[in-house]
Amino acid sequence: MDHTNLYIDGEWRNAASGERFDVINPATEEVIASVASADIADADAALDAAEAASALWAARKPRERSEILRKAWELMTARLDQFARLITLENGKARADAMGEAAYAAEFFRWFSEEAVRADGLVTHAPSSGARIIVQHKPAGIAVLVTPWNYPAAMGTRKIAPALAAGCPVIIKPASETPLTMLALMPLLEEAGVPKGLVNVLPSRRSGKLVDHMLHDPRVRVISFTGSTEVGRKLLHSAADQVLKPAMELGGNAPLIVFEDADIDKAVSGAMLAKMRNLGEACTAANRFYVHEAVSAEFISKFTAAMAALKMGNGSDEGIDVGPLVNAATRDKVAAFVEDAVAKGARIELGGTIPNGKGYFYPPTVLSNVPENADCVDDEIFGPVAAIQSFNDQEDVIRRANDTEYGLVAYVFSEDMRRAMQVCERLEYGMVGLNRGLVSDPAAPFGGVKQSGLGREGGHEGMMEFMETQYISAEW
Ligand code: NAD
Repeated sequence: MDHTNLYIDGEWRNAASGERFDVINPATEEVIASVASADIADADAALDAAEAASALWAARKPRERSEILRKAWELMTARLDQFARLITLENGKARADAMGEAAYAAEFFRWFSEEAVRADGLVTHAPSSGARIIVQHKPAGIAVLVTPWNYPAAMGTRKIAPALAAGCPVIIKPASETPLTMLALMPLLEEAGVPKGLVNVLPSRRSGKLVDHMLHDPRVRVISFTGSTEVGRKLLHSAADQVLKPAMELGGNAPLIVFEDADIDKAVSGAMLAKMRNLGEACTAANRFYVHEAVSAEFISKFTAAMAALKMGNGSDEGIDVGPLVNAATRDKVAAFVEDAVAKGARIELGGTIPNGKGYFYPPTVLSNVPENADCVDDEIFGPVAAIQSFNDQEDVIRRANDTEYGLVAYVFSEDMRRAMQVCERLEYGMVGLNRGLVSDPAAPFGGVKQSGLGREGGHEGMMEFMETQYISAEW
């Protein structure tokens, strides 16, 4: 825990107010660090630093920006273990999940080091006027980045890397539950050659006030947020005052559909990944399982066996598959979803009871026969609970899958490619996993439709979220 202060203008500073807050290890409920809590004066200092760094960074050649990002990837890749340990300590996720996250987080630096030199443009003839149309992309300006606790490293690098590639300075506010990983990344970025003031980190227990203040500073041009739809909506309201460029990665309610022609073993492994990666604390986590009646008994039996084989415990210990949830409130919310579903007629195939002892643990849980009116069918569970329903009609399952205000990701399992593709195209989701339980990839555009968000992260699109398009109408 070397770095627990604010990181502003390349320096470690106490909060101007002197205020601090505790970070808790969810496996032991012990305080592991006391972190400086930023307020308005600190935000102003970070904005000054970002403004001072802005012009020089935007003027650096794309190749130079690219090489610094590439170096950040190399350095992080060499220290995955160190980052994974810290992620587990503050978030609770098991070691393998944390290593997966650290590697995924590092990949954004590599991907955007490659994208930094590919900001394309266009020169063409106007069809009628005889003028030339010249279209080019420019850095949008200072970006405020707000990230959640479920991926303390990756949700940050997924925004920092494209912003730097595009030429923008950033101020990042990590989640108060998990600020340490983002702080620990800063010495690495310095070593990679990121100039001072370009990346600033402001943990805070006064997120609402702090972020709102920054969104009303005329120097800020972009708000990129990952978190709940509820907070995203608030930030969109704040962003409207200065007409900021918003990128919103919000909540999900992912359906996972298993057709009667699916390869059931493949569907079970896909479902395990879609449900249990990160302990279900993922916006991409499968939330509603729809399994065709003809294969439902086989799927439930094999899936329950796979869930039962997972070993729960302190994520820092060897051989643990499932750590604790991030805090008591999250665990209690998961327990309430299970109680509600059972009261309405669901059957518990596995789990369903909070264990005694320290730590915010909730066991892998399988519910079958979940009724349509259960709360977990409408809301994100964000925990290790698989809620299984059955279906017998393709049109009906498409209707049920689309019957939500969310539209982040859906999963489809079928060996009939013609049918599978027809179903995928009718799903109102930004992403679909077809015979796969994992869609996240730095090289692909991640994001949702409807109330799951605006904009895309990763892929070619990710960098464009931090760029403005300029069109010049020219004659010569
Ligand atoms: P959250 O919305 O409570 O918090 C997210 C971040 O916003 C945190 O840094 C928090 O401190 C900050 N925040 C909270 N209130 C704020 C306010 N009024 N103004 C400004 N900032 C504020 O979400 P969470 O509980 O940390 O994360 C879980 C949610 O994130 C889930 O809904 C999940 O689906 C979503 N999520 C989405 C994606 C995606 O890419 N779509 C990825 C991960 C998580």
